[in-house]
Amino acid sequence: MTKKIALFPGSFDPFTKGHEDIVLRGLKFFDEIVIAIGYNSKKQNRYVPIEKMIRLIEESFSTDPRVRVITYNELTASLAKRMNAAYLLRGLRNTTDFEFENSVSQMNRYLYKELETVFLITSPAYAGINSSIIREVHKYGANVNEFLPYEL
Ligand code: ADP
Repeated sequence: MTKKIALFPGSFDPFTKGHEDIVLRGLKFFDEIVIAIGYNSKKQNRYVPIEKMIRLIEESFSTDPRVRVITYNELTASLAKRMNAAYLLRGLRNTTDFEFENSVSQMNRYLYKELETVFLITSPAYAGINSSIIREVHKYGANVNEFLPYEL
């Protein structure tokens, strides 16, 4: 049987407990999950430096060989095809996520016909976690470790 590989694409700036929850639940039905951080080395506009984010995510899943972390700077659909990933994994928090994800998934299917996007509804405990709010709060010195699977 062919291995069910899912790509979990995002900016993950930073990777949160909400993201971790999507990966852990995804592992119930995928053989491998590749966390793919969209990153352009020419636009150094991340809050958490890319090398640090990769290390922290890898440490969070260090006991599970089914999870890998990569960076990419190309169309998500092209990356999925190249990596033999027939699935994209995405989380849905609310209707705003839905509106956007709906359009993106239609485009991805147009770009790579066999690609299926699988959506997981966020667990209630994590629905309010938002990377951009965490960045903002952390920038002003507040402790945000409660929302992350590691210490920032
Ligand atoms: P993007 O820039 O692609 O939106 P993010 O890193 O913000 O990247 O999110 C990556 C994926 O994780 C998206 O599918 C997003 O909906 C989902 N996600 C973001 N925050 C949460 C959360 N708190 N719980 C579950 N899923 C989430």
